[in-house]
Amino acid sequence: MALTIDQLNAATPAEAVALLDGIYEHSPWVAQAALPARPFRSLQHLKHAMSRAVADATPERQMTLIREHPELAGKAMESNTLTAESTNEQSKAGLTNCTPEELARIRELNAAYGEKFGFPFILAVRGPRGLGLGKKEIIATFERRVHHHPSFELGEALRNIHRIAEIRLNDKFGVAPTLGNDVWDWHEALSVHTDPGYAELGQLTVTYLTDAHRACAAQIAQGMRDCGFDSVQIDAVGNVVGRYEAAEPGAKTLLTGSHYDTVRNGGKYDGRLGIFVPMACVRELARQKRRLPFAFEVVGFSEEEGQRYKATFLGSGALIGHFDHAWLDQQDADGITMREAMAHAGLEPKDIPAIQRDPSKYLGFVEVHIEQGPVLNELDLPLGIVTSINGGVRYVGEVFGMASHAGTTPMGRRRDAAAAVAELILFAEKRAAEDGDSVATVGMLQVPNGSINVVPGLAKFSLDVRAPNNPQRDRLAAD
Ligand SMILES: [Zn+2]
Repeated sequence: MALTIDQLNAATPAEAVALLDGIYEHSPWVAQAALPARPFRSLQHLKHAMSRAVADATPERQMTLIREHPELAGKAMESNTLTAESTNEQSKAGLTNCTPEELARIRELNAAYGEKFGFPFILAVRGPRGLGLGKKEIIATFERRVHHHPSFELGEALRNIHRIAEIRLNDKFGVAPTLGNDVWDWHEALSVHTDPGYAELGQLTVTYLTDAHRACAAQIAQGMRDCGFDSVQIDAVGNVVGRYEAAEPGAKTLLTGSHYDTVRNGGKYDGRLGIFVPMACVRELARQKRRLPFAFEVVGFSEEEGQRYKATFLGSGALIGHFDHAWLDQQDADGITMREAMAHAGLEPKDIPAIQRDPSKYLGFVEVHIEQGPVLNELDLPLGIVTSINGGVRYVGEVFGMASHAGTTPMGRRRDAAAAVAELILFAEKRAAEDGDSVATVGMLQVPNGSINVVPGLAKFSLDVRAPNNPQRDRLAAD
């Protein structure tokens, strides 16, 4: 019988700790420390309370928790002394039937890892989808993580422990994240399409109107039809547009969506999550025969990344009337103009003005996106609501100094252009940090024709300054 949140909320503290036995390996204190957060409102609430209990524990206690875990495919597995949960996980990943060579490699890695970090390598071997990582993937991850900085790797170990706990809780409560699994699988299925030259490298690259790009559009369109959208079409710039109509005709529309093109060697989830999550929402609405008080329009934008043509945000720009017809004459690296690419895809540039939306018919635009930063990850939160987007200004600059001999120019007599930029970088770092939520980055830094024995006479650099509102950004830039 699966456990329920109500049972857990009604249990005495001792019973509740017993009910959560085995979620955190040999560490009932985690459950104990999470219980004051009762009543739990959901399984997610319980998961978060338990992960916070670990985060709030002393570093010594965290280290004890990490050390309670068995080595991967280690002695405990060979001598059959793993906990039932660990045995189940390690066997699902195929670790209980490694070849002698694989076992030898894992043993080597276990030894190197243990020596470097002082704790065992912990990996949620059932993986992000819960089905089990392959042995190859596990060994590759092990080989990558052994090179991490110790402080980063400590966090990585704890994140994996939380993921293991999440999977164990799902099993205990008989919960399967089926909607999330479907959305995950849609990403996997879409990622089979990749531009020529990248498939061989095992990399994902989908740029505007290539065969892979058009295959993606067709697959997303079919997916929308399968989900029960009322209408699905590919518009004049290659956006895939699905509409799910409102309960009453004439209601306004909520617009959502994201891009399905990628940067070179991009990730499977950037952009696409913002198409697939609302598709799953529409599928559930359609299954329940429910209509919302507003229409719901999901757009898979054809272009955002500006990889094939320098026409960034072409897909979404067309919806607000920002398509620049001069772009049509741009050529890609093979000399194919955008006009030719569009003709090849059966798109009509003359139809582009007609796809501009009338803002008075829309409630607004929202977008689901993966977090491209570390914050939610560190807080063990699956979701955050964005309250502002950092607006930026960018500069490229040059500092002119005086090139001189590195051996004979005394420190007090130098005009070192690189040292000047270094001071600017340190100032930008300190000044942005003072705001708390501003950021400043020097991403490019060069000493043209520099050499090891010459004081730099010239340094070139970029500066990117961003803040959540314009006045704050402008003050930062002015300083
Ligand atoms: Zn994106």
